Amino acid sequence: MSAKLKIQSKPSGAGAKRVVDALLAWFAANARDLPWRRTRDPYAIWVSEIMLQQTQVKTVIPYWERWLRELPTIAALADTAPEKIHKLWEGLGYYTRVRNMQKAAQMIVEKHHGRFPENFNDILALPGIGRYTAGAIASIACNQPAPILDGNVIRVLTRLHGITENPREKKTNARLWKLAEELVMQAAPQSPRSSRREEAHSKSRNGQSLLTSAATNENACSHLNQSLMELGALVCTPRSPQCGICPVNKSCVARKQNSQEQLPNLGKREAATARRFIAFVAERRGKFLVRQRPAGVVNAHLWEFPNVELGEGGARQSSARRSEVVERRRARSDAPYHPGDFRLTSPAPLCIIKHSITRYRITLEAWRAKLTNSSAKTAGVWLTRRQLHQLAFTSAHRKILLTADAG
Ligand code: SF4
Repeated sequence: MSAKLKIQSKPSGAGAKRVVDALLAWFAANARDLPWRRTRDPYAIWVSEIMLQQTQVKTVIPYWERWLRELPTIAALADTAPEKIHKLWEGLGYYTRVRNMQKAAQMIVEKHHGRFPENFNDILALPGIGRYTAGAIASIACNQPAPILDGNVIRVLTRLHGITENPREKKTNARLWKLAEELVMQAAPQSPRSSRREEAHSKSRNGQSLLTSAATNENACSHLNQSLMELGALVCTPRSPQCGICPVNKSCVARKQNSQEQLPNLGKREAATARRFIAFVAERRGKFLVRQRPAGVVNAHLWEFPNVELGEGGARQSSARRSEVVERRRARSDAPYHPGDFRLTSPAPLCIIKHSITRYRITLEAWRAKLTNSSAKTAGVWLTRRQLHQLAFTSAHRKILLTADAG
């Protein structure tokens, strides 16, 4: 792919050049050999970038490999059934991302003849792609000098420049984008090189092919952006950054001021809110009652066991109080069930799952139960274990299913 982003004038600062040279040399020697680093296919890189939002690298690798095996092209993604993409995404969470990917793939087929667009603004116009993701695809796949700014890059840049203002504030955020842009502009080659030459590979220590051409600057924009992300992930970590081995430690203001642990200054965190749910594992003649979450709610279209949200005190509350709390909750949620629809049949919970969604700390108790209100069954369907395993469940309810399997 050719570079379509307009290259503005490079900053001439010797400081920026020193930082860029140090980052490129460090990346060439230390980059992890990740599967999406062995390709320049923008589709494959796009999939990795979307999966890596909110998810760790080691978790993403098997998802990414399976995804590309099952849906190797943009056209395959555009055409596939929504149930299949939900199943392939099961466990990664934030399912709006995968639905947007399919909409974007359909738009690429319609507007760009199935070829991933090369123009930065065309990439940015795709559903679910913001400035960061567009910059990541344009720079990593096309070596365009497009800046990127994610949590890792924010941490590196605020420390490197000793920026004490909150990076979420508009002015500071704009300053960080500018700094990221200056670095990638500094890395940009003076003249475009052929994309073939940019695909030059060398052998890494474990013998696998890995892009390591930083010394010749043939992938400099791509590597510079990836080096910032990699430094934030491996060295300039939120706690106990390894400043002693950091390639830019001589330029780092936070290190000089010993303020690394105070930066970035993200302000006060919103207090976490505890929420409690009870799920009912109702089995009848080898089938379980489950339901699909409706559109427009968190985890829309995914499957789950019947469940209700409880107030403080949860299952130990008096039933009158519990009903009142549930009714209040139900008024502003999509829950179609009532605790009175079920009778608990196990002496203890099947399992208790604790997890977090945004600022909510959620406790989910799953109980074996019997459906007592036959009209409530219309909110769900009875399915065999085999059928359940073909559906995409929310992560928490997948754990309930696996526990029910084991029990
Ligand atoms: Fe981060 Fe330390 Fe490097 Fe500064 S010197 S960028 S704080 S790891």
